[in-house]
Amino acid sequence: MTVDPVAGGTAHDPRVEAEVRRAALSQLLKGGPLAEAVHVLLVVVVAALVWNSLPLALTAGWVGAVTAAAALRTWWRLGLSRRTASPEEALRGVRLTVAGVGLAWGFGAAAAIPALGLDQAALILVVLAGIVAGATGTLVGDRRSFHYLLLTALAPLPIGILLHGHSRVHLIATLLIVLFVGGMDRVHRRAYRTFVERVRAAVLLASSTQDLARQHAYLDALIASTPVAIAVLDGRRSIRSVNPAFETLFGYSTAEAVGASIDALIVPDSLRSESSDLEARARAGEIVRVEIERRRKDGRPIQVRLSAAAVKAVPEGGLVALYEDISDRKAAEQAMRAARELAERVARARSAFLANMSHEIRTPMNAVLGFVELVLDTELQVEQRRALELVRSSSEALLTILNDILDYSKIEAEHLELESIPFDLPKVVHATATLLAVRAREKHLELTVDVPPDVPHIMRGDPTRVRQVLMNLIGNAIKFTEQGEVDVSAAVVGYHDDRTSVRFRVRDTGIGISDEQLATIFDEFTQADASMTRRYGGTGLGLAISRKLVALMGGQLSVTSEVGRGSEFSFTLRLPVDRSAAAATPGRAVSLGGRRLLVVDDNETNRRILRDMLGAEGVAVHEAARADAGLTALRRAAAAGTPFDIAILDAQMPDQDGFELAAAVRADPDLAATKLLILTSAGQRGDGERCRQMGIQAYLTKPIARADLIEAVGTVLLEAPPAGAAPALITRHSIAESRHTLRILLAEDNLVNQQVATAMLVKRGHQVDVVGNGREAVDAIGTHDYDLVLMDIQMPEMDGFAATQAIRALPRGRSLPIIALTAHALSGERERCLERGMTGYLAKPFKAHDLFAAIEGRTAATADTAAAPAPPVDLAAFRGTMREAGAEAAVDGILATFASTLPQRLEALAEASRGGEAEAIQRAAHAFRSAAATIGAHRLAQLLEAMEASARSGDVARAQGGLQDVSREAQIVLDHVRLAVDGGGDHG
Ligand code: ADP
Repeated sequence: MTVDPVAGGTAHDPRVEAEVRRAALSQLLKGGPLAEAVHVLLVVVVAALVWNSLPLALTAGWVGAVTAAAALRTWWRLGLSRRTASPEEALRGVRLTVAGVGLAWGFGAAAAIPALGLDQAALILVVLAGIVAGATGTLVGDRRSFHYLLLTALAPLPIGILLHGHSRVHLIATLLIVLFVGGMDRVHRRAYRTFVERVRAAVLLASSTQDLARQHAYLDALIASTPVAIAVLDGRRSIRSVNPAFETLFGYSTAEAVGASIDALIVPDSLRSESSDLEARARAGEIVRVEIERRRKDGRPIQVRLSAAAVKAVPEGGLVALYEDISDRKAAEQAMRAARELAERVARARSAFLANMSHEIRTPMNAVLGFVELVLDTELQVEQRRALELVRSSSEALLTILNDILDYSKIEAEHLELESIPFDLPKVVHATATLLAVRAREKHLELTVDVPPDVPHIMRGDPTRVRQVLMNLIGNAIKFTEQGEVDVSAAVVGYHDDRTSVRFRVRDTGIGISDEQLATIFDEFTQADASMTRRYGGTGLGLAISRKLVALMGGQLSVTSEVGRGSEFSFTLRLPVDRSAAAATPGRAVSLGGRRLLVVDDNETNRRILRDMLGAEGVAVHEAARADAGLTALRRAAAAGTPFDIAILDAQMPDQDGFELAAAVRADPDLAATKLLILTSAGQRGDGERCRQMGIQAYLTKPIARADLIEAVGTVLLEAPPAGAAPALITRHSIAESRHTLRILLAEDNLVNQQVATAMLVKRGHQVDVVGNGREAVDAIGTHDYDLVLMDIQMPEMDGFAATQAIRALPRGRSLPIIALTAHALSGERERCLERGMTGYLAKPFKAHDLFAAIEGRTAATADTAAAPAPPVDLAAFRGTMREAGAEAAVDGILATFASTLPQRLEALAEASRGGEAEAIQRAAHAFRSAAATIGAHRLAQLLEAMEASARSGDVARAQGGLQDVSREAQIVLDHVRLAVDGGGDHG
């Protein structure tokens, strides 16, 4: 934006040249009067000099001519000032008059010299030389004028001299004149150049001065018209200048502002020190930008955005400050914040209301369900039974809806906390699909589950929520599919340090979802078919919940679908792999490597899943899509001397089903060695017996978990060929049984804890004996064989450590695995247990899978589970734990026991507290705490733990002081538990 006044060549700048001409003219004219007077004076002097030597007429003529030429020049010059003539015209005039004067001198002298003596002639030459020399000054502005004078005044002289004589002197004089002409021309040329340079410099100076002034004016105008208020300060915070925007913003006129201190003018008192800090920063070179309050002249505060910077070019420490009015924006922000807070409050209130409502409705709902159940168990007429069945199914549906609403409002109100615990991912996927397999079977849908072997087994995350999402997706897929298949899969799609990305996918061949509907199905309470007469039930909340859960777990639920062809829902979770647990997976007894296996199944997906699962174990998997092709393949292989070790037959195939094929195989003596495994998706009563009769070795239902399949195949292959007696049929149940049955001794004094652990273990297929203290445990081990002991640490009579020591002294107890159960989930506790001779450690309260992992050789997750954040009464978690153990039915009994024993426990604690005996308080608090922790009353457990700790440290007064809090909390817990028991329990 800067304008450089010197830029661009000025050498032939016409502006400069015109200026040179004008200066030359004025110089020529200015020198006029003196020159004219001098000419007259000189010619008079010369006349006096030659008065006696020259004829009078000649003298008079010469004087007359010079005087006339000078007068002519004067006249012309004076005339010029009256007329307006162009510089060119005027110059021409000057040149002519100069030539006139020159001619008068030259011809006069040329005529006079022949008549004069040499000395007088020399004097005349000197005069003429003087005139010419003087003209180098007076005619400096115009080369041509000077040349005219030079020529007219000196050219006639040689003629005069040569007429005078031809002696050497004359010749020399002539030569001198010629040299003089040359010399004077050079002198004039130099003078002229200097003159032009001077004029040019003056012109440039004038023009740059003008440009500078213009720039100043431009900058001033810019600052004046800038919409931002600007103030320039000096080193002492006084205002040097302000712009009109400053005047408008703050209400001060320039006159008032300039010279005043900026602090006194616009900075509120309370902000002075902050303001000087800002100034110091700006002076240190920082460009300071802040949003701050300032004050107007009328005292009103004003919100501004202040930007300040040091003006480096100003030596006395100038500072420029810019103020933008942001009052409007601030007000808008404030309004927006208020609106958002209000919206959030409303949303929270709505969620809380929903949660309360659904809780309130569920209580009577469960009474309805419970009593319907009871009445259904009595003698009823057909009509009555049908009506009650309807009441039951409707109530269940209603309960599902309420559970959805509760779940949704929990997520909305941000009450939902995710767990991060180790879980068996393939198992979760399989177990979920298995739960829904019944529904798929009812609709004659093929439900396939594919979890390739590379999916890590034990990952960390929230299995309950993963299951919930899969449950919803698979449930929907089954609901909206009339024929075809539902494929569920989980596959690894990437690795990131310690995390693995697993993509979960549920695909169906159902009715599909149109593009418009795709946009809204994830919204709450939306269904693709919103008509009142729609065919499919549901709340329209499932997908909304699933999407939020997936998002909470760090993924994104997405869908692709085509109307009439089916839908595919998928999401990817990035979960940490639990390496320690994975490494501890027990090895299998049978190696399947190199075995030959034929899969006969019409369903392509199913064949692929089996191929993947078994192929990874080294099994050579061959396939046939139809029964007849399968039989041919079996026969051909046998004829070639490489019979198949085992054939897996799908029970439901279009032309010839699995049982018919099995009959054909068994009818062929060449195929007798081939073991048969039937895979069915629609188990029927009597199938087992049929298998046994037909010589089929195994019978499994789809979808089948990888581990179960491999175990079944392994077991079938290991089995010796039937020698007379028919071998046992391998089923899902037999696999579970053979895998898990352990004889376990549980030493635990707490009744609730006893029930929980026993229910979990029995459901898992283990055998459990329970004892109430360490002494009984030692006795039991002396008389029975156990595979494992679960040992509570704090027990009456003999504690866990002492009992362990005693057991280790027994012959049977030396290498018996003893797993400690302790409520002290502190670091170091594990080491303490191991030091005291125990083999493992489990923190209470524990989850079913922690317990199973601990007793079945896995040691995942011990201390961590206790560290998870605990809600006041986490019945949901407790119920979830029990459900996971398959012992949900025991929950209500356990809760009822807890509720009925709570008053006594509280009374015992109060009594101990009144007694003031530390040990009694400690004991009572400990027993109570253990029970509370088990059912998930974490806050109560914490309060009790504090009481216990105080008592243990001997601080009885402090322990007594805790009783009040404990009583209050216990009452809350009791109400909660009663409600749950009476109403059927919290929703998990
Ligand atoms: P709902 O309880 O009604 O199943 P969801 O939120 O789970 O609620 O599903 C919302 C709607 O999305 C369903 O009503 C249905 O119209 C559509 N939808 C969900 N899954 C599928 C699917 N697999 N095939 C076709 N439509 C589906």
